[in-house]
Amino acid sequence: HLAKRGRRGVETWAPDGTPASRDRLQTLEELRSALDGDELDVHYQPKLDLRSGSVVGVEALVRWQHPERGLVFPDVFLPLAEQAGLMRRLALRVLERSLRDLQAWRAGGLDLSVAVNLSVSNLQDVALPEQVEMLLDAFDVPAGALILEITEDVLMADTARSQQVMAGLRRLGVRLSIDDYGTGYSSLAYLRALPVDELKLDRSFVTDLTSDERASAIVRSTLQLSLDLGMGMVVEGVEDAATLTALRAWGCDYAQGYHIARPMPAERFLTWLAGQPAFVPRGGLPRPS
Ligand code: C2E
Ligand code: MG
Ligand code: MG
Ligand code: MG
Repeated sequence: HLAKRGRRGVETWAPDGTPASRDRLQTLEELRSALDGDELDVHYQPKLDLRSGSVVGVEALVRWQHPERGLVFPDVFLPLAEQAGLMRRLALRVLERSLRDLQAWRAGGLDLSVAVNLSVSNLQDVALPEQVEMLLDAFDVPAGALILEITEDVLMADTARSQQVMAGLRRLGVRLSIDDYGTGYSSLAYLRALPVDELKLDRSFVTDLTSDERASAIVRSTLQLSLDLGMGMVVEGVEDAATLTALRAWGCDYAQGYHIARPMPAERFLTWLAGQPAFVPRGGLPRPS
């Protein structure tokens, strides 16, 4: 009967893809069962090291494989999961899946890292560091191969608690990255106060990089700032070759974007990598067993 009820809910989702309010309960019920079952999937987007030219890692991006609606994107269901208090379970699912896939890739000789996104409530969850530690142990992945991406709104919620969680994560050796950097306010204040390893510049600054001098000034000065702070910088949303060329010339460390690759299922990642000899990471491609 779930499928039938699911279908009814699906038909009344709003045109922008978000469930209409009278269907929120319905959708929430579906989301809960998606979390119990195997409808939540993780896609991976490669992260390119612009100096060596090779792929150094992937970002894990959650997807909901809905029985009737097909692939549902996180912008649609994450707000609902957040309101319903499901973010801890969601984060653990994504971490588990990502670390399992990473373990397999690393076992095959690929020297890769995985970046997992955290939400506001994840950073308020004092149990998180211990859970991350258990998962790293379970999958025998070194903490340094895990990057946790945090958006600036996380940092504004309850600073004392989120700083405690961040400190706990860093004690494990996990790396922290500020996602969508530059879109929140007082970004510079966090940079001063918080122990982060990487800046991930929001893609809005990159869209017209090669034609907009202001955008390019912002990218270049943020790059300089990250260098001076001893942090790595990732530019996300690279959609064309000209942007990639400019970033490389400016000395940007890492890039992600549709021009390099779109997020893809785990199975497709190795095939994609095999077709990109220039991007192959240290260790080479694993042999099929
Ligand atoms: P984000 O972490 O900033 O991820 C980047 C988003 O930009 C992804 O959208 C990615 O598919 C998209 N993207 C990558 N390259 C390009 C490009 O060249 N052009 C354009 N236009 N877009 C590009 P996605 O997968 O829909 O994720 C949206 C947001 O949802 C993420 O933004 C992140 O904040 C959140 N999210 C995704 N997965 C998770 C998760 O497992 N947990 C949590 N808490 N949040 C997640
Ligand atoms: Mg991210
Ligand atoms: Mg981002
Ligand atoms: Mg984002």
